[in-house]
Amino acid sequence: MKDKMLEIKQNLNLANYTTMKLGGAAQHFATLNDEAEIPELMKFAKNQNLPIFILGGGSNTIVGDAGFAGLVIKNEILGRKIAYEDETSVEFDLGAGENWDKFVHYAVDKKNLSGAEAMVMIPGTVGALPIQNVGAYGQETSDIFVSLKAYNLETGKFETLDAEACEFGYRDSIFRAHASGKYIITSVRLKLFKKPPTPPYYAAIEKYFTDRDIALEDVTTQEIMNAVVKIRSNKLPNPNEIASSGSFFKNAIITSEKASELRQEFGENIPLFALENGDYKIATGWMIDKAALRGKMIHGMRPHSGNALVLTNISAKNYADLAAARTEIQQKVFEKFGIKIEQEPLEI
Ligand SMILES: Cc1cc2nc3c(=O)[nH]c(=O)nc-3n(C[C@H](O)[C@H](O)[C@H](O)COP(=O)(O)OP(=O)(O)OC[C@H]3O[C@@H](n4cnc5c(N)ncnc54)[C@H](O)[C@@H]3O)c2cc1C
Repeated sequence: MKDKMLEIKQNLNLANYTTMKLGGAAQHFATLNDEAEIPELMKFAKNQNLPIFILGGGSNTIVGDAGFAGLVIKNEILGRKIAYEDETSVEFDLGAGENWDKFVHYAVDKKNLSGAEAMVMIPGTVGALPIQNVGAYGQETSDIFVSLKAYNLETGKFETLDAEACEFGYRDSIFRAHASGKYIITSVRLKLFKKPPTPPYYAAIEKYFTDRDIALEDVTTQEIMNAVVKIRSNKLPNPNEIASSGSFFKNAIITSEKASELRQEFGENIPLFALENGDYKIATGWMIDKAALRGKMIHGMRPHSGNALVLTNISAKNYADLAAARTEIQQKVFEKFGIKIEQEPLEI
């Protein structure tokens, strides 16, 4: 139901709407509370031939100093309802503007459901989960995803997309590739489970329990969530205190030849993870650390001391500072390892 007047603001500073706290202004800015408001917003954009950008919590978005010469639509569509339930699982329809971390707490604390407990403390909205197949500590969106409802900006019609249509990959989906900017996701259906999770768990979670002499078979969904909260609190900056976009670089993918080369040079225990196709994923945070950049101030930006993959904004004046720091980090890593590292957050 539409219950608020649609307001379109002009020249709104986007730095306040992203967790990196940098960048210029949106020429036009509207808050979307109900999917019924979309046609009016489309009309506004079409009449002035404006490009559109959909914003959630801004925790994976970098804004350039020029800002966005178009219409930014901040998705705040709320809603949480049970769409289906049987003896083993519950499916939820969630408004795309729902806060993800709050939903994880609700699912675990109030409903004792499993499937999302390791994805606690990830900032942002439900609508952004499918964009990069958000994941952490051994769980990812595609494991619990059923479908989503989205407005197709090209056809002006709503569509339902299932997991196959989203083509989820590692921190990837069609929404970061050929369907980038094509949809406004308005709701997401997720399936959680009544049975508690069973080991094996992600290595860092197992270590957390074994260090405390807690048998892995006995841990509850709630205990896993609490363990991830503790682990993350030690490694990641609190977005309410330190500006960042979480992991700023993607872990790099390298060939098996390159992996052997690196093992010879840096030892057998370097953080390499074998992939199904024979390639390897290498921990980019480790490379940044080895390039002596962890904790170092670079143009007001600093690879976080707890996790060098996270680039924090300590005193950068603008996006240009971030870009200079990014180039310096990429160059130093390339000089040491011969590997090109790529930015993870999307940029406007
Ligand atoms: C401290 C910190 C820790 C983090 N940890 C993790 C982690 O462990 N794992 C992980 O995967 N990510 C992590 N992130 C990144 C981020 O939290 C996630 O990517 C999150 O899903 C972004 O949500 P958002 O609503 O803030 O997205 P935004 O930054 O607002 O948007 C991200 C992208 O999604 C698009 N988008 C957003 N909503 C919609 C919609 N409704 N329809 C269409 N497109 C949309 C935007 O256009 C943009 O391209 C972390 C970030 C921070 C700051």
